[in-house]
Amino acid sequence: MCLFCKIANNEIPSEIILENDDFIAFHDINPKAPVHILAIPKLHVDSFNELTPDIMSKMTSFIQNVAAEVNIKESGYRIITNVGDNGGQEVNHLHFHVLGGAKLKWGHFADSDPKSFL
Ligand code: 5GP
Ligand code: ZN
Repeated sequence: MCLFCKIANNEIPSEIILENDDFIAFHDINPKAPVHILAIPKLHVDSFNELTPDIMSKMTSFIQNVAAEVNIKESGYRIITNVGDNGGQEVNHLHFHVLGGAKLKWGHFADSDPKSFL
């Protein structure tokens, strides 16, 4: 069973923000913003590549409720899901990072000169 399946099963403790039959949201152990929450389906899904529209549609309102729960819905936040090797995915159980609580930085995501992307 993968790490986040164990968290979803309460076999590994986490600081839970919100939970329902299908999803759970908990604090990231290594926060990158004042608010850094991970929202996951309880069902194991490897990554966004395997996510079905049915689960995604339910996740939409779940993540909106998470943002409301931690009072960042109006001040603003960012949702990120890293996919695969180039995306920097380290845990192979789909998770959406929900980041907020301060003005977030925005910058280049690759080491190469951005002009070389054109
Ligand atoms: P990824 O790099 O796969 O997009 O993100 C994985 C995230 O999971 C990282 O931000 C990391 O800090 C977080 N993480 C890894 N292990 C644990 C853990 O055991 N508990 C919690 N709450 N977060 C974890
Ligand atoms: Zn899993």
